[in-house]
Amino acid sequence: MQTIDNFNFAGKKAFVRVDFNVPLDENFHITDDTRIRAALPTLKKILADGGMLIIASHMGRPKKNPDPKYSLKHILAHVSEKLGVEVKFADDCMKADEQVAALKPGEALLLENLRFYAEEEGKPRGLADDATDEEKSAAKKAVKESQKEFTKKLASYADCYVNDAFGTAHRAHASTALIAQYFDADHKMFGYLMEKEVKAVNKVMNDIKRPFTAIMGGSKVSSKIDIIENLLNKVDNLIIAGGMTYTFTKATGGNIGLSICEDDKLDLALDLMRKAKEKGVNLVLAVDAKAADSFSNDANTQIVPVNEIPDGWEGMDIGPKSMELFSNVIKGSKTILWNGPTGVFEFDNFTDGSRAVGNAIVEATKNGAFSLVGGGDSVACVNKFGIADKVSYVSTGGGALLEAIEGKVLPGIAAIQG
Ligand code: AMP
Repeated sequence: MQTIDNFNFAGKKAFVRVDFNVPLDENFHITDDTRIRAALPTLKKILADGGMLIIASHMGRPKKNPDPKYSLKHILAHVSEKLGVEVKFADDCMKADEQVAALKPGEALLLENLRFYAEEEGKPRGLADDATDEEKSAAKKAVKESQKEFTKKLASYADCYVNDAFGTAHRAHASTALIAQYFDADHKMFGYLMEKEVKAVNKVMNDIKRPFTAIMGGSKVSSKIDIIENLLNKVDNLIIAGGMTYTFTKATGGNIGLSICEDDKLDLALDLMRKAKEKGVNLVLAVDAKAADSFSNDANTQIVPVNEIPDGWEGMDIGPKSMELFSNVIKGSKTILWNGPTGVFEFDNFTDGSRAVGNAIVEATKNGAFSLVGGGDSVACVNKFGIADKVSYVSTGGGALLEAIEGKVLPGIAAIQG
């Protein structure tokens, strides 16, 4: 497989798919440029080689072309500043031929939001609410057909293709996957960020050092079933934390008061417990909870056994015994995956459990474990606790990471790996 380090970009035009879908405030100022910074090593390497950059990204969910609210023009000055060159801008990603042809080594062109065109995602737009199934399928067929031309056009701009957008690697879109077919195997490759993400996922999915512990938190079992099922085939210990705890507690006959619970998933919880036993996986559930008398930071609280939450109270975080239990399992692990907080970490009075898990992961990492944190709120947790640089890897991909740990093949990765 071609790698970015082995490729000499001198005199070459590189189509680089990045994820510049950064949050903007109401004045279109960037509120968090993490994603831009994450792509810089790849972009800078290409420029340093004497290559030419055609930078492509989506932003938000535009519904028409153009949709000024979602224009990448808002971030142009910031990208130029970070990259250290004055990046040019193509107002229409389908009409950039002249600007592409005018590029000189060391120069960069940012294409307007690819999703201004429905073809990027390959999903029809503007269908009436009462469209018939036939109309829907005709519209779908039409956009899939025009998607080929769209993809070919993007590919025609460049000599080589670099995918550095892990955040969209789970989408089979024109610029994230389909475009790769227009480049020879030695002219398509991952960028540095993608390389790091793929390597990290591989360490927890394939190249596992044992014991392997996964900590699954968050609010709902239903959103994590596929992940839990897949992890049961991989892990030695599965720690279940967060709001989904109470579905398990109720399923086994405990009192959970007003704690969040998915009543239609009680059987599923029992099934997962049975499967864990069959597979020899140590399923670790909380033994105590920090319960509150209302869903607020200032609520009255008490520590209670997890299966004895009084009526009118709800479990908002794990208690100290669970923290110790979880920490001991984590500290004895050589591979660790953390997804989802142990409690309502947005409220400062209910962060202790997540903090304890974070600290145990930091200690295990110091002792040689590989730790991957990712998928939404656990990333916010490690940032909040200031420990992002003390774990082995913090993934930048929410949905993409979750699909990878569900065991799915990500189209953006498969398109390069073949
Ligand atoms: P998820 O997006 O599924 O990873 O869930 C993250 C959310 O779960 C966060 O917003 C947490 O506040 C929430 N959460 C975690 N534990 C609890 C709990 N015990 N009760 C209610 N919400 C919780």
